[in-house]
Amino acid sequence: MATVDELAPPARILLGPGPSCVHPRVLKAMATPLVGHLDPEFLRLMDETKELLRFVFQTQNSLTLPISGTGSAGMETCLVNLLEPGDEVVVGVNGVFGMRMVDIVERCGGQPVIMEAPWGQVFSPEQIEAALACCRRPKVVALVHAETSTGAWQPLQDIAPIVHRAGALLLVDAVTSLAGCPVEVDAWGIDVCYSGTQKCLSCPPGLAPLTLNQAALEVIRKRKTKVRSWYLDLTMIEQYWGEERVYHHTAPISMNYALREALRLVQEEGLDTRFRRHRRNHLALAAGLTALGLPLAAQEGYRLWTLTSVRIPDGIDDVRVRRQLLEQYNIEIGAGLGPLRGKVWRIGLMGESSTRSNVLLLLSALEEILHTQGYRCPPGAGVAAAHAAYADS
Ligand SMILES: *Cc1c(COP(=O)(O)O)cnc(C)c1O
Repeated sequence: MATVDELAPPARILLGPGPSCVHPRVLKAMATPLVGHLDPEFLRLMDETKELLRFVFQTQNSLTLPISGTGSAGMETCLVNLLEPGDEVVVGVNGVFGMRMVDIVERCGGQPVIMEAPWGQVFSPEQIEAALACCRRPKVVALVHAETSTGAWQPLQDIAPIVHRAGALLLVDAVTSLAGCPVEVDAWGIDVCYSGTQKCLSCPPGLAPLTLNQAALEVIRKRKTKVRSWYLDLTMIEQYWGEERVYHHTAPISMNYALREALRLVQEEGLDTRFRRHRRNHLALAAGLTALGLPLAAQEGYRLWTLTSVRIPDGIDDVRVRRQLLEQYNIEIGAGLGPLRGKVWRIGLMGESSTRSNVLLLLSALEEILHTQGYRCPPGAGVAAAHAAYADS
């Protein structure tokens, strides 16, 4: 075999659906020496990480920890621990990640009750109430807070009372919302919530923070059957992350260093300041795209600050534009998924990636590239509209 060159990846500007750009302090944390996963120093660091996670999730839940695995592992952990064969789960499906939840519910032996909305739209409390009325004994209502496949932002403030009245738990996917816009687990009555590290937390992919309240823990404690996953069994994982410190699997040490540092950065910035930054940059991007004549794809009034989906104009070559952005400007943006493939681009402004300079660079690059494909718009309109939006906010 020929020798392989030393690793030298390009320094991309990551404006896709994740991973997002990572702060140098997080990369540095990952390059610091390993300790053992039961080293007193690591145990101390685990406790600090749990505290910091409670802060970003806005919760007092004692079971708040990072699962070893990406966001999907967080999704699977929540569902596999709550569900037993035959359990009914109302799943909101308005994009890729609702569909993924349905798949996992089925693999757990549960019965998904699919509640649909068109891609890019959200669910009303009435719709959720109606879906629950169709169930015999609903155990969980599962909703995606930030649908990364469409850019739609599901309101959650008024949902928990409806779900609880029906005797069910509210489970929320906050993978693309946590640390980018408010996720108030306790105030909103969310019972189970999970996220991922590589979106608005701006950490490499590899951990899935989650939190469960007492009601959810009761459900797990009352199980009649064993959790159908050894690796993701929360009762055992909790014994490692809790007082007992019982070995379950070797914690990914460097990833946990990274998450702790990323959470420290969130704490230093402050949640409100961080949310305002995401909002301001999204509004500037949205104004710029609109000025370029590119319509936004998600339902008006329910557009995420962390991911903006935009329609690709007729006659423009999706793949070519994205390749040019990557090759000429080092910028990654996301393609459409499922029914939106070839129809939209997905622009992530998550965590470290959500900056004014990234917004202005992308708008300018996009205008230039569209121009080479024969698309006509007033020169500089995108950047000018973004500047105006910044001046407003
Ligand atoms: C990215 C994402 C996931 C899955 O996370 P992975 O890290 O890719 O496993 C789940 N839900 C939503 C809403 C996401 O955006």
